[in-house]
Order: sequence, then C-alpha cells, then structure tokens
Amino acid sequence: MGKVIGIDLGTTNSCVAVLENDQPVVITNSEGQRTTPSVVAFTKNGERLVGEPAKRQAAVNVERTFFSVKRQMGSGYRAKVDGKMYSAPEISSMILRKLKKNAEEYLGEAVTDAVITVPAYFSDAQRQATKDAGRIAGLNVLRIINEPTSAALAYGLDHGQPQKILVYDLGGGTFDVSIIEIGDNLIEVLATAGDNNLGGDDFDERITAYLVSEFNKAEHIDLTKDLTAMQRVREEAEKAKKVLSSSSSVIINLPFITTVKGEPRHMEMNLTRAKFNELTRDLVKRTAVPVKLALKDAGISAEDLGMVLLVGGSTRVPAVVDEVRVLTGKEPSHNLNPDECVALGAAIQGGKIGGELVAGSSAAEIILMDVTPLSLGIETLGGVFTKIIDRNTTIPARYSQIFTTAGSFQTSVDIKVLQGERQFSKDNKLIGNFRLRGIKPAPAGVPQIEVAFDIDANGIVQVSAKDLGTGKHQEITITASSNLSDAEIERAIREAAEYEATDGERKAYIDARGEADTLIRQVENALSDKQKKKSLEGHQKKQIKSALSYTKKLVARTKPGNVSKDQALEIQRAASDLRNAASVIL
Ligand code: AMP
Repeated sequence: MGKVIGIDLGTTNSCVAVLENDQPVVITNSEGQRTTPSVVAFTKNGERLVGEPAKRQAAVNVERTFFSVKRQMGSGYRAKVDGKMYSAPEISSMILRKLKKNAEEYLGEAVTDAVITVPAYFSDAQRQATKDAGRIAGLNVLRIINEPTSAALAYGLDHGQPQKILVYDLGGGTFDVSIIEIGDNLIEVLATAGDNNLGGDDFDERITAYLVSEFNKAEHIDLTKDLTAMQRVREEAEKAKKVLSSSSSVIINLPFITTVKGEPRHMEMNLTRAKFNELTRDLVKRTAVPVKLALKDAGISAEDLGMVLLVGGSTRVPAVVDEVRVLTGKEPSHNLNPDECVALGAAIQGGKIGGELVAGSSAAEIILMDVTPLSLGIETLGGVFTKIIDRNTTIPARYSQIFTTAGSFQTSVDIKVLQGERQFSKDNKLIGNFRLRGIKPAPAGVPQIEVAFDIDANGIVQVSAKDLGTGKHQEITITASSNLSDAEIERAIREAAEYEATDGERKAYIDARGEADTLIRQVENALSDKQKKKSLEGHQKKQIKSALSYTKKLVARTKPGNVSKDQALEIQRAASDLRNAASVIL
C-alpha cells in the first residue's frame, strides 16, 4: 500500500495531511497555503477552479461559484451549471481531487488511499455521500472517521493519567461535541452530540444581514437583490468576524458597493465586538444543548472532565471560548491548531491502517473506539419508531431483534429503516426501505422475522431481515434515496476522468497557441536583424513573410485561454511551416 492521506473535508476549508517518520504533517497546497477553501467555481469559458482561485473570483461569478456544499451532503441538492446538474458529492469530489493532487505533488508519487473525516453527528446518508465523493475523486476511502475523534487522536495519548476529555468542534457549518476517554492505548468515544446546521457561516450571515439592513436604513438602498454586492458583503463579513476575534472593533469598508443613477455608493461602518456578540448570542447559546446532552449520555458531569479541546475555526471567537468556560468550568486547551488537528488525526489513522507506524510506538498501539451518533431502528405498527441500536453505541456493532406480522397470512413485510431520536417514524429520517417476501402464511403474530443492523467502523449501516420460519433472507446497504446510486457514481467517475483528460488536452491546445506566439516573436526579431535579413534570398523572404502573416492571423483569431482542438491543429501546422521556412535565420 502506498501512502495513506488524511483529509479533513471542511465546510469552509479543507486540509490534507500525511504521516512522515511517524509524525503527521500538513501538506501545503499549490497556492502555498496549509488549508484550502472548500469552494468550487465554473468559469464562463469552461474552466473549473477549486480553492483560493475559486474563492477569489466569487464576487464576479456568484451564480457559478459554490460554497459550503458540505451542508448539502446526503440531500437531494443539485447545482445547475450550463444545463448540467452536479450533486453535492460531485462538487465535493472536485475539492478532494485537488487535495489528492497536492498530496501527489508533495509526495512525488500517486496517492489513492485516504481516510476522510466527517462531523461526528453526520447521519448515515451524509457518511455515504462523503464516501461517494471520495470514490468520484479517484480515492479509495479506507475509513470515514469522526472529526472530534480525529482531533483526539492528534492530541494523542501521552498526557499522563487516563482522562475524559470534551472535544468542542465548531467549524464553518457544523457543530459537534464528543466526550472521549483517552489513555491506556485506547481512545474511546463515550458520547457524541451536535447540530449539523450550526457553524461560522451562520455567524457570517448574521453580520451580513446586519450590514445590509444598516446600509438600507442609512442610504435607503436594498442590496439583497444585487448578487455581486451581497457576495462582497458576505466576504467582508467573514473578514470582519475574524478581526473581531482579536480586536474590539473593525471598520467595514466596501467602496463602490453599488451605484444609484450612475452615482457610486460606498459602505463604511464600524462594527464592535459587543454588537457582534449581540447578533450571534443565540447561535453560541445553541451549542449548550448538545454539550449537556453529550455529558449526560456519557454519564459524567463537567467536573469529571480532564480537559476541553477546541477544534474548528469558529472556536477562535472569544464569546465561544467564554461559553465553553461557562459550560464546562474549565479553561479550554489551545494546544492544538483548530484548523489542522482534524487532518493530522486522520493522517495518523491512515498511517495506522496502512501499516506505516513504527511497531511499538504509542500511535501504533492506539485502539480507536467510536460511536454511532443517532439511534437506528425500524417502523412498527402505528408508525412507531422502534429502536434497535441506541445512539452512542460503540461501533462496529451488530444488533438484532425479532418482529412478527401484523396481519394474518401476510406473506411479505415492508421494512422502513430510520435514524433519529423521535418516538414516531414520521419525525425521524427515513434512510432505507426494503421488502421481505416469501414469509410462510400464518396467523398474525406467528411468523418470526429477525431484523439485524450492522454498523461498520465508518458508521455505515447494513440491515437484513430473515424469516426464521423459511430462512428467506433479504438485506440492503443503506443508501438514502436522495444519495447517489452506484450507476450515478460510475457516471460521475467517468465524467471526472473525462474532464481530467480534456483538461489535459485543453492545456495542450493553449500551449500550442503559446508556442506559436513565441515563434512569431522570434521570427520577427530575426527579420529585424539586418545581417540575417540580408542572408535571405528573395523567394525565401517571401515564403517566411507569408507563413508569418498566416500564423499571426490564426493566433489572433483565438484568445490565450480559449483554443479549440481544430484551431490548435491549424496553429500547429502553420507554426511548423513557419519554423521550416525561417530555419535559416533562427
Ligand atoms: P473549519 O471548518 O474548521 O475550517 O472552520 C472554518 C470557520 O472558522 C469559518 O466559518 C471561518 O470563518 C471561521 N474562522 C476561521 N478563523 C477565524 C477567526 N480568527 N475568528 C473567527 N472565526 C474564524
């Protein structure tokens, strides 16, 4: 097995790390950054941009730039670009592909194996969608691990006594809290809870809404309809939020935010940290519920915690740190870099699976025990949700229960698989559906049907049903209906590979034009050299000039970044004739 990379596929930023000499290291991307914005853009001339280049052009290409796609994983979301639909795993796969490429450039070898992290609170469908994204990107996803668990892995074992820690992970789009016991070569997740729709993006939205409404009050201009202006405000809001993590106020300055009757208008405002705290207080407070729930599920109180680890960029917000202090009564640790520790932990796990860790080292000995974040079960009579596996059960796990029929002489049963904590199935998430046929006809209540749930180490679920009377058996790997089917994934893989190939071709066409352009300049320079010009006979001069003007004409017809195959071939032919004709003076 080659190197296994660890990927933190974040809502706002992603990070890739690899194990080197038993130590995880972050891989710098091609823009020289240690994290890559999780942004994908489709330019008007058919180019795909990922990361910083995509983020940079967002304001002028709003409708074709996609942010925070992680929030759509496992849903039926489709982005429409030039009449083509892209699912969330497809867009995420473009980010993964870039990370894979950056890792390959860094390592100087092909990379196929990866461990990818997900929020602990991700459902089965969201985990499947993440695995699908990896597959589309050409990655063999060896394991999906939970982000807080990964952070705990990066934090490591060597901290004296075994202890219970709380990992508070507030990223760009999701919030997770996990109670983890570490020590004695074991990292065991005791409980996890969270909110898949809470993160730094929501803080940015609050600032954005405030700025837009203040601007409207002062200038009587509604910016909400102006996509470009809104994108600029959103970007400024995020910048301001970051500044407020270390300063008590920030100047918002957006010149030429819009024009009214040809007159430019500017947005200039002062935002204080106090105002920001007021705008986001309820968001920060929302994190208290999962923290309390996780502690309760782990059967401990805050005093039992040995340490509180902060993970995710949004834990840099001072009000968030204050809230953690209040909730836990502990001073949170700042030992780990919140942007990088998740990827570092994933690299350790990758190295462990890949057998790269030196035997006997503390990391090699670690056993990781994670839990399933949500309860799993099936629908029974009256629309009741009957749990088969409780939330926070250690995985991998297998549980089964015997059910029977509700109607007499029933020969089939429909099994609805659900995930959630509510009493009735309609309030939980339906994650799969199948029918067991061939049940031996018998009065209601007689047949014995065993329903078994298997959750693998990735938190991915498989359900089977068996009529114990006939031995008839049916099983499914859960892929929620909104996720991609195998055929759709295959198509996406094919298209990604085709895109990669055409991308290579397109580059060759652009290069052909560039080479012709250079040749034109060389020939022109040579012709302006009197000595050289004199050495030419009349017919040679004529031939060069004609080839030169033809090549120039072809090049002028195209743009530097946009050359079709036919145009490239024509240019190559003309350039070759020109090179031959001018060989005596070059
Ligand atoms: P992550 O998904 O962990 O990379 O977290 C990204 C989120 O953290 C984004 O919403 C960022 O705006 C936010 N973030 C990053 N740095 C800071 C900072 N210095 N202060 C406040 N929020 C930050």
